Amino acid sequence: MTDRLYYHDSFLYEFDAEVIEVLSPDGSGARSAVVLDRTAFYPTSGGQVFDTGWIVPASDPQHKLRIEEVAEADDGTILHFVAEAAPLQKGIRVHGSVDVDRRRSHMQQHSGQHVLSAAFVRLFQMPTVSFHMGTDSCSIDLDTRNLTPAQVEAAEALANDVTSQDRRVDIRFVTQEEAAGLGLRKLPPAEQEKLRLIEIWDFDLTACGGTHVTSTGQIGCILLRKTEKVRQGWRVEFVCGKRAVATARRDYATLTEAAGLSSGHIWELPQQVRRLLEESRTLRKSREQLLEEIADLQAAQLLAATAETASRRIVVRSYPDRDLSFIKLLAQRLTRQNSSAIALLASTSAPAALVFAQSPGQPFDMGALMNGALQQLGGRGGGSKDMAQGGPAKIDEIEAVLAELAGKVQG
Ligand SMILES: [Zn+2]
Repeated sequence: MTDRLYYHDSFLYEFDAEVIEVLSPDGSGARSAVVLDRTAFYPTSGGQVFDTGWIVPASDPQHKLRIEEVAEADDGTILHFVAEAAPLQKGIRVHGSVDVDRRRSHMQQHSGQHVLSAAFVRLFQMPTVSFHMGTDSCSIDLDTRNLTPAQVEAAEALANDVTSQDRRVDIRFVTQEEAAGLGLRKLPPAEQEKLRLIEIWDFDLTACGGTHVTSTGQIGCILLRKTEKVRQGWRVEFVCGKRAVATARRDYATLTEAAGLSSGHIWELPQQVRRLLEESRTLRKSREQLLEEIADLQAAQLLAATAETASRRIVVRSYPDRDLSFIKLLAQRLTRQNSSAIALLASTSAPAALVFAQSPGQPFDMGALMNGALQQLGGRGGGSKDMAQGGPAKIDEIEAVLAELAGKVQG
């Protein structure tokens, strides 16, 4: 079993070790897994994601190998994944360097999680059932039926108080029996005989294998963000330390850009957006009304200009600047205003559309007519006896097809 140096010192970023084994666990040979006798690299576990960094053979210091991922095998062996393991063999000495920025961020997120989870228990008896560390943000799932914005704010305030009080964070190792009497926030299943405890002075005591800060001030700050109802309770998204500052910076930039569009202050943005939405709703309504009026007038005009042949008024029109909803409206008006109207209308603006309609009582079948037209023009559509619509594929041939159909309904 690998000696886990990070168990005792989270700030140990440089270390020396011996290669125990080089494995090819994926079978493909695409990458290798290096096993060391001791390591400061943290493998993904307990919600915290793995460290990255480099290992260098002592005999060839120029040959830096990137540690892409660190995982823990079922038997507790720690696997250091590298893209190319050529210079590494059993028995050679190596020097390991942990990616410090990444580790520090993980320490801030993970210790911040302990503070936050304890704050939810202290204030509202809401235990944390799971912890997830993502690339941009982290989340905990709370075992609770309800979670109000006021509770979120209160937990955030307490968590930040504990952070600014710069309380000591200690690592302790105890037996299962000792742990049972300590009132841990979370007791893991009894597997190992020794438990590793993380204690935030006078605030939280919990079993955990992660890398933590040595005092809460190193967390920096804790910022709570989205909350959402999940199957087993409530999920609370949060960010700590530098990540919190980066997130707040991005939020501010986004808000500033949005506020700039309406030349207001970012705090007035909700009112501005509400006002714009209302305006656009009003405009949409008045536009719809106007289009209906235009359709009414145009229908009357078209009917007046179309001679009746065989007691039918056949209106054939193709519009380059109207959409489907308008030609539909026009077809409705035409067949409503006159009891002998047949309308064969097209919109040739993309996406092209066809609408065929006849006044109730006329003998043709618009659905069948549409199918015939689309067989020539391609595309999809259909409809009933009195009204059909379609989306033709070949726009250039629309007028010729309409003229041909007009001839059919004339006779
Ligand atoms: Zn933990």
